[in-house]
Amino acid sequence: MIPARYGASRFPGKLMQDLGGKPVIVRTYEAAKETGLFDEVYVVTDSEIIYNEIELNGGNAIMSKKEHDSGSDRIAEAAENMDVDIVVNVQGDEPFTSKKGLEKVLNVFQGPDADKIDLASLMTEIHDWKEISDPNCVKVIVDKDNFALYFSRSPIPYPRDKNAAVQYYKHKGIYAFRKQALMDFNRLPMRSLEAAEKIECLRYLEYGKNIKMAITTTQGIEIDTPEDLKRANKFLKEETTQVVNNKYRNFPMVPKVVFGQGSFDQLSSILAPQRKDKSPFIFLVDDVFKGNHELVDRINLRYNDKLFFISADEEPKTSQVDEIVKQIKDEFIYKPSGIIGIGGGTILDLAKAVAIMLNNKGSASDYQGWDLVPSKAIYHVGIPTISGTGAEVSRTTVLTGPVKKLGINSDFTPFDQVVLDPDLTIGVPKNQWFYTGMDCFIHCVESLNGTFLNAFSQSYGEKAYDLCKEIFMNGDLSEEESRGKLMMASWHGGMSIAYSQVGVCHAMSYGLSYVLGTKHGIGNCIVFDQLEEFYPKDVVLFKQMVIDHNIDIPTGLCANLSDEEMNTMIDIALSLVPLWENALGDEWESIATREKLRSLYLKM
Ligand code: NAD
Ligand code: ZN
Repeated sequence: MIPARYGASRFPGKLMQDLGGKPVIVRTYEAAKETGLFDEVYVVTDSEIIYNEIELNGGNAIMSKKEHDSGSDRIAEAAENMDVDIVVNVQGDEPFTSKKGLEKVLNVFQGPDADKIDLASLMTEIHDWKEISDPNCVKVIVDKDNFALYFSRSPIPYPRDKNAAVQYYKHKGIYAFRKQALMDFNRLPMRSLEAAEKIECLRYLEYGKNIKMAITTTQGIEIDTPEDLKRANKFLKEETTQVVNNKYRNFPMVPKVVFGQGSFDQLSSILAPQRKDKSPFIFLVDDVFKGNHELVDRINLRYNDKLFFISADEEPKTSQVDEIVKQIKDEFIYKPSGIIGIGGGTILDLAKAVAIMLNNKGSASDYQGWDLVPSKAIYHVGIPTISGTGAEVSRTTVLTGPVKKLGINSDFTPFDQVVLDPDLTIGVPKNQWFYTGMDCFIHCVESLNGTFLNAFSQSYGEKAYDLCKEIFMNGDLSEEESRGKLMMASWHGGMSIAYSQVGVCHAMSYGLSYVLGTKHGIGNCIVFDQLEEFYPKDVVLFKQMVIDHNIDIPTGLCANLSDEEMNTMIDIALSLVPLWENALGDEWESIATREKLRSLYLKM
């Protein structure tokens, strides 16, 4: 039962506010229903507006007859004449109520101490002192069996000894009552603790009832203020597209690609028909080619075309994209005819992002996420000069932003044209060849061992995996053959994750990169080296390849991290939910704990 009062002192009418096209209360109702945990779901309300809205959406609503002091009073009235064992009170302003949390609360009634339990409720760990001391956040302390001792808006316990290890818990407003306990609640008059703290479950403690607390890790978003609503809308937008994407992805593929040694010389004739009057082509070229006249002369700049040399020493950043876009806009009145990226994953990603941002307002950081880009990018061409990342074929451009490291993943991201000339990769230093090549190998491993795998991904992943083994293990290819094959392995590896996801290695490598600036390829190698327990057979192969090619894998990176840095690293890694879901399935949170990640990072 979802008690729903129309008036709310801090945010009037909040339950009828729009959340992704539906009122908050309808979202909450649907979320509760979708868990499949309940025989019936009801909204119990004092408001005809809410009642009508729920009925209109095909839900069950009950009008409460009386005035009530609390949500539990309200549902007690509704449940009185129903034949029920357990009634769960789900807060109307928690539209993201998760199945996991509700399941945990219900499960306590199956536990060994079930007879002792009058009602069950939920709590979640909190760490931030701002939240701990916030009176809007109700804290709870429990005994050794997780029975509630007290609830308060004050920080409990008081941390007199700053060194004593204590975990603070926030109370989540979900209750599961045995029917009797709910009826008792209704009868028992409010006492002073409840009146003072304005926390309804204190009434039970004041009457000696037993409240068993379950622990959840999912925080959810409560809608208490207009700011919460904004956050929730943003979250919903990102969530829903992610969910849709994982089922059936309707993604674009690179429409034109030319392959072969010397194919780079086709570029001029490829670009010519795309040239718009007075609009330049902008070439973003890895600065490793500065002074390499052979290559630069072949680029063949015409009219007002412009070449920027760009360093690939650091991972590409949203601020860097914004800067390049500004430079182009300052210098040219007309929008460019196209952007041509020539380099490794770093330059290719920058080129994709710049092409997007020339047609979209604001900062590149506004579009980090899934399907957030509203307008088409300008024409863009990708020309890899090192193989492995699959950036030439993928639907994303991975950027480090002010708060996260995340791709701009959109239908407008992929290149309109790719030129695959294996000869451009001559001159890549050996260690770098290996690190970037292993990015491809790891894409295959993570895709092929992931829970999202389907025949589409598998077909590409297996091919790329075999090519990698041919290139890095057998050693009987000529360099020329090897370059061509690695270029195609990169392509297939990229395609393999188009319908799947990467996994543990990439999630943890993003953490390294965010905090230490470690580059993608080498970062993946550092992480993968420690992942025997997740990818046993392939880590053995990897270690063999490292030895065969006499490659240096740095160690000791995380030995001297501060607690704060380590926590950020873990936060960044854990925030990449789809990667963990792919790698470890729905129960990933119980495997990829903070402690697990910490211990792995400490080995790196
Ligand atoms: P990179 O682009 O950073 O290049 C690595 C080094 O090789 C650089 O020093 C570069 O100057 C040098 N180099 C490149 N070509 C050369 C050549 N022909 N001769 C000599 N030196 C050459 O490395 P990368 O591994 O290709 O790309 C890593 C980036 O790709 C990361 O930023 C990562 O996030 C991104 N990435 C993107 C995707 C995607 O789908 N968009 C996928 C994986 C990785
Ligand atoms: Zn990668």
